Amino acid sequence: MIDLNEMKEESLDIAIRRGQEVDGISCLKHCAGEVAEAIDAYKDFEQVHGKFSGPSSEAYNLRMELADIIMCVLTLCAREHLDIEEALRHCIKKNKARIPEKNKRADYVDWKLHKQSLEIKQLEEKMDMLTERFKLPTGAPTRVVK
Ligand SMILES: [Mg+2]
Repeated sequence: MIDLNEMKEESLDIAIRRGQEVDGISCLKHCAGEVAEAIDAYKDFEQVHGKFSGPSSEAYNLRMELADIIMCVLTLCAREHLDIEEALRHCIKKNKARIPEKNKRADYVDWKLHKQSLEIKQLEEKMDMLTERFKLPTGAPTRVVK
């Protein structure tokens, strides 16, 4: 289990040693820049993962940009002595309470359907990849003429 409150102190220490501005506004501006980078990384990720599944440099880049966002948040939390773990727990509780009553039971079903659609998409991608792989090379005869 990751200890975010411990990690935030390390984030602040790194930011200071790198010479970054660590006041609140600078941290938030930095975070906004990282969000923009994550948007670009997600576009690349989405483009590649529309065709293939599994590990890729696009998936790695997206993960790194998301981690950059978290680092900015952690740095700010350390600077301002904010308990991010308590805040996250509260946020999850608050958002859970906002789920409409009618969706509380259906949530599991929706997730299950979502998971199934992802599995189908992955199978379709693998089928496309295999179809592409076993195509005859360009210029080769596609049928034998007797
Ligand atoms: Mg970045």
